[in-house]
Amino acid sequence: MNTIIPEWQDHSGSLNSQTSRLVVTIDGPAGVGKSTVAKRLAAHLGYTYLDTGALYRGIAWKVNARNVDATDLNQVAALLETTTLALHSGEDILSVHVDSQDVTHEIRNLAVSQLASTVAAHPPVREWLLSIQRDFADKGGVVAEGRDMGTNVFPHAQVKFFLDADPEVRINRRYHELQEGDQDKNRDNVQREMAIRDARDRSREVAPLFPAADAMMIDSSNLSIDQVLAKMTEVVAAHL
Ligand code: C5P
Repeated sequence: MNTIIPEWQDHSGSLNSQTSRLVVTIDGPAGVGKSTVAKRLAAHLGYTYLDTGALYRGIAWKVNARNVDATDLNQVAALLETTTLALHSGEDILSVHVDSQDVTHEIRNLAVSQLASTVAAHPPVREWLLSIQRDFADKGGVVAEGRDMGTNVFPHAQVKFFLDADPEVRINRRYHELQEGDQDKNRDNVQREMAIRDARDRSREVAPLFPAADAMMIDSSNLSIDQVLAKMTEVVAAHL
């Protein structure tokens, strides 16, 4: 059994109580700033933030911990049969528990990023995570970020964004993010890791990364987080 525990927030000053509860999706490649804007948009709206990459990372963490071959679909699928995954959505942080162990911090490194993208290409993994993601949003009021939110998981979401940026900008952003966490400080490694992961995410057969036909495209190369957020807030407001 997998549990999802969205603790519905009613941040003071948010729009939560007066407005309809939409599903807002934000898709895009690595390093584009999705998490930051998704988190802030969710807080602004009084919605729950759903980081779907954290789910794939949770599975990758267990694959690594159990020395399972991430490229072997059968081994990974067998592992899922004895896996429980829970997300606890708090005000500031979404914590990830695998088999009741809190792995929120362990899942944020380059090795787990790579493994996450490898296991994410297996159809049984995506299928296994589908209901978990949808359950999270069954009451609406969610900002969900990932690679296939608008195309596959929430095709009927009321508001969809696809966030993109020049590769150099994305590499720099990811590099600085990792530095803040005091790990993997080599920029070449970040660049290599991102290129491999992006290529894999865009070319896999099941639910590859691409913009939904009805997604609003935002190129954040020359925009600050506040500017991206302002655009998104305006679009969402028109749907409330
Ligand atoms: O977003 P994040 O970098 O945490 O995602 C880690 C990996 O999980 C991605 O590279 C991608 O392979 C996978 N993922 C996915 N579909 C999603 C979210 C993440 O395939 N909706």
